[in-house]
Amino acid sequence: MEQINEVLFCLGCGAKIQSEDPEKTGYTPKSTLAKEDVLCKRCFRLKHYNEIQDVDITDDDFLKMVSSIQNKRGLVVHLIDIFDVNGSLLTNLPRIVGENPILLVGNKQDLLPKSTNERHLIQWLRRSAKEMGLKVIDVALISSKKGHGMEALSNMIETYRKGQDVFIVGTTNVGKSTFINRLIKHSTGENDVITTSYFPGTTLGFIEIPLDAKSHMIDTPGIVNRKQLSHYVSENDLKLIHPTKEIKPRVYQLNAEQTLFFGGLARIDFIKGDRKSFICYFSNRLPIHRTKLAKADELYNNHLGQMLAPPDETTQSMLPPLVKHSFRLQTGKSDIVFPGLGWVSVAGEKITVEIHAPRGIAVSLREALI
Ligand code: GDP
Repeated sequence: MEQINEVLFCLGCGAKIQSEDPEKTGYTPKSTLAKEDVLCKRCFRLKHYNEIQDVDITDDDFLKMVSSIQNKRGLVVHLIDIFDVNGSLLTNLPRIVGENPILLVGNKQDLLPKSTNERHLIQWLRRSAKEMGLKVIDVALISSKKGHGMEALSNMIETYRKGQDVFIVGTTNVGKSTFINRLIKHSTGENDVITTSYFPGTTLGFIEIPLDAKSHMIDTPGIVNRKQLSHYVSENDLKLIHPTKEIKPRVYQLNAEQTLFFGGLARIDFIKGDRKSFICYFSNRLPIHRTKLAKADELYNNHLGQMLAPPDETTQSMLPPLVKHSFRLQTGKSDIVFPGLGWVSVAGEKITVEIHAPRGIAVSLREALI
């Protein structure tokens, strides 16, 4: 029998390489083991064909792996997606990481309109985290894609880690791989050490990157939030709803008894109140349709998947049915948030709206972000 003495780890996801079971993580055909840079079959396909393969790790296993941080000492960098704060902020993080201090980092800043006030946004994030029950030592804003804010964040990490390890924690798709690649490039000049992709859940094991002689930066598996809309839409629709460029807010002046459709994925009915501006922050590629409330059901029933698209056919087969939530906005500017899809900002004085969104998607109200 052939003996393999060396233990190999996939360069993409960090899983232990094995050639026995194609269904399990880290599988690589024996023929490729001699190569210098070994990628597991999953990362190989991801890298070369941009496709994802299912593996046998469950959400619970991921969580268990990340929870081992509570037995270690270091700084936890919690990366969130600024476009989907509600879907990516891990309010139960203290239970996962124990006593370790948490630095909150809002990624994808480049998606917000350039006019957005950065200081206001940082304060907003700090308040939101606190309201959601998450205590953090500091807040930073970055764009891993553009490199914005990376220098300041590196300095912040150096200050707060006090010579200890750094754990990078986040839900899938917040940009963790892009972020770590950017940090590595920042310090070593090397490109794309970690695989990134459009699809949620690409980072598997713990990947350790040396920071100095004694400490490491540790990438942890992305935590899956089943409530995120991205789990219920097709690859093609994901590309439409996931913004890749600066969002151009779309403004609609609505009278009561008018409706806005966001593709056919969600809808907002303006039930009662004076004429108002509804400022919509969604991917520029997501079509928005205005109609009369009285015609909205008919439009939905007859044009879903055509005029009201996305959803495409694949998404329609996966997506839970739309359910209705009623909100009454009192004073001040509020955002009506469709986690993973976007939000609508309304300066509300005693107005009533009804929101239709896929069941399980936690629509909510928050203080306006912008
Ligand atoms: P991970 O699952 O957390 O490792 O996320 P990835 O690094 O694979 O990124 C998920 C998606 O977000 C990819 O499509 C990235 O291109 C995109 N992304 C990551 N960082 C940024 C960013 O700073 N700005 C924008 N606009 N997109 C980003």
